[in-house]
Amino acid sequence: MTLNVAQIREQFPILARQVNGQPLVYLDNAATTQKPQAVIDALVDYYTQCNSNVHRGAHYLSDEATKRYEAARKTVAHYINAGRPEEVIWTSGTTEGINLVANGMAQRLKAGDEVMVTEMEHHADLVTWQQACKRSGATLKIVPIHDNGELNSDAFYDLLSDNTAFVAMPHISNALGTINPIKELTAAAKARGAFVLIDGAQGVAHGAINVQDIGCDFYVFSGHKLFGPTGIGVLWGRYDVLADWPVWLVGGEMIATVTYQDATWGELPNRLEAGTPNIAGAIGLAAAITWLQGFNADDIWAHEQALLKRATELAEKTDGMRIIGTASNKIGVLSFIIEGTHPADIGFILDKQGVAIRTGDHCAQPLMKRLGVPGTARASFTIYNTMDDVDALFKAINKARMMLA
Ligand code: PMP
Repeated sequence: MTLNVAQIREQFPILARQVNGQPLVYLDNAATTQKPQAVIDALVDYYTQCNSNVHRGAHYLSDEATKRYEAARKTVAHYINAGRPEEVIWTSGTTEGINLVANGMAQRLKAGDEVMVTEMEHHADLVTWQQACKRSGATLKIVPIHDNGELNSDAFYDLLSDNTAFVAMPHISNALGTINPIKELTAAAKARGAFVLIDGAQGVAHGAINVQDIGCDFYVFSGHKLFGPTGIGVLWGRYDVLADWPVWLVGGEMIATVTYQDATWGELPNRLEAGTPNIAGAIGLAAAITWLQGFNADDIWAHEQALLKRATELAEKTDGMRIIGTASNKIGVLSFIIEGTHPADIGFILDKQGVAIRTGDHCAQPLMKRLGVPGTARASFTIYNTMDDVDALFKAINKARMMLA
C-alpha cells in the first residue's frame, strides 16, 4: 500500500499556510515535525475538559487527568516495546533525559573509567558526557566516523575495553541522517559490562522502535520530533537499572517519606519524576503515537526513501552541489553544501520562496569541523512531504545558485 499523502496533509492545518507570500514547503522535520489535528485536539480537549493535577487531588477531574496521563505512559511503553510502563519516565525532551542519566552516572564514574561517544554526536549527547567526565575524572573516548559520515564500527570495537563504563550514541545522526548499527554495537558494549544509552531523537520517527530488541539500557527521545508537542520527552530505561539510578531532580511526588532532616525516594516511575509533570504534553504525545500507528511503518519508510531518492538524484545533477554524509542507509535527510556559497545564504533565499530548511552546524560543531565544512543546509522529509515539495526545493536551490553566482 502507499500512503494517501493528500489526505495526510489535510490533517496538518499549518501546511495550508503561506510564508513570505508563498505556499509553505516544510522541510525542517528533523528539527521538529508539524502536528496533526488529532494532537491539537487532544491538547485542547485536555485543557477544556479535564485540566487538573495528577496523582494528588481526591476529586473527579484529578482522577480523570491521572487516568489519561497514565494511559499515555502505556501507549508509549507499547510503542517502544518497553518491558513495563514504569520504565517510561517523562522528561521535557531528549536533552533532559540524557542529563538525567549523565548526572546519575557522574556520581558513579571514577578516574580510570571510560565513556564512549561518537564523532557524529549532537551537543545534547556530547556536552553532557564531556561534563560528566570532567566532574568525575573519567576519560571521554570519541569513536571516529568514516569520511562518508558512517560510524567506524571497527574503531568502536577497538576502543571498547574493560574500563568502558558507559557508551552513548545516536540511533540516527541528525546532521547527516546516517543510521547506526546500534543493535550490534550495543551487544558488544554490553559484553564488556558497560551501560548503553541510545539517543533516539531522530530514530523514533522513522519506524517501530523495540528497545528490548536493541538491548540498550536507556533510550531517549523528544515528543516534538514525533508529531507530538514540544516540552515532552521520554527516557526509557530497563527497570532494574532505573530502580536504583541516582535521583536527579528532587521535590514533590518523587519521595516516599520526608522528615526535616531526611527523605526516602518513591518507586518507579515517580522517583525520577519530581514536581508537576507536563500532563497535557504526555497526553498529546500519546495522541501523536496513536495517530502514527494508523499508518503502516513500512509505507512511511518507503515514502520517505522515495523522496530522498528523488532529492539525491536531483542533487547529483546540480552543479556545485555536494551531499555531505552517507548516500545510502539513511533516513530522509539531505545535508548539502553548494560550493562557493554559505549554507546560511542558501537558507535565507529558500525561505523567501517558502521553503523551510535548516542551516548551520545542527548542534554538532565538532562533526562539522571533522567534515571540513562550516555547516550544511539540511532538508529533511517526513510522512506529509510530496514529490512537489522536492521539486520546489530544487527550484529554490537553483534560484539561490543563480543569485549567489
Ligand atoms: N539528539 C539528536 C540526535 C537530535 O536530533 C536532537 C534534536 N535536534 C537532540 C538530541 C536534542 O533534542 P531536544 O532539543 O528535543 O532535547
